[in-house]
Amino acid sequence: MTTPLLELRNIETFYGPIMAIAGVSLKIEAGSIVTILGANGAGKTTLLKTISGAIDCRKGKVLIDGEEVQNRAPDVVASKGIGHVPEGREVFPFMTVEENLKLGAWGRRDRDGIARDFETIYSYFPDLKTKRRDMAGFLSGGQQQMLAIGRAFMGQPRLMILDEPSLGLSPLLTKTIFDIIRRINAEQGVTIVLVEQNAQAALNVAEHGFIMEVGRVVMDAPTGELLASDDIKEFYLGQS
Ligand code: ATP
Repeated sequence: MTTPLLELRNIETFYGPIMAIAGVSLKIEAGSIVTILGANGAGKTTLLKTISGAIDCRKGKVLIDGEEVQNRAPDVVASKGIGHVPEGREVFPFMTVEENLKLGAWGRRDRDGIARDFETIYSYFPDLKTKRRDMAGFLSGGQQQMLAIGRAFMGQPRLMILDEPSLGLSPLLTKTIFDIIRRINAEQGVTIVLVEQNAQAALNVAEHGFIMEVGRVVMDAPTGELLASDDIKEFYLGQS
């Protein structure tokens, strides 16, 4: 048995008295693309924040390559290879595209590697190259999403967690973003965890899926199995 890149063991996370994550355990193997689906309020964002250290858990373990990192500061978790692309993008609006990307490379000393990663991102998202000297706040929603992905990539993640990357984007832009997510996985070897409302798009790109309901994982299966499930068809894909 190989050690999973990421493992959660019985995670419980609270907001004051409110239990948002009620005992989640899961394993994510290196090299895969997985998706976490669930209705609004199921706890997906809270789970991602617990992984990346943005919120502390009250119980349980977050293991990266078998090493415990729960409740460590976000920069410590990032230094272990976790890149978080938050919901709402959170780019720095009064900094240029290039400055936002440079911030993502914070802490790196390998100038050649940084230059190479800039070129990789500009080849994936040519719009960012064209607009590299523009303020990020002037970018469209889709371009801000590209920038948020690029910024996380500049931190050399082994695991990239993306929270609702398609939110507010047109079907065409969603396809562009998902194509690049797939390429970042296939060409750069980055493991991907994708939280999505767009279940169809997420299940098309992922190999494995977790379904969350009120703070728990209620299904954990290969996407082929999920796509064949009547419940998934009815509640997530709008088919009956
Ligand atoms: P969405 O798709 O709406 O983002 P989600 O599955 O990501 O939903 P979370 O945002 O993680 O769900 O929320 C899980 C639960 O925690 C919900 O009941 C929510 O109301 C609650 N919650 C989230 N953030 C806070 C907060 N800052 N303070 C108190 N409760 C919160």
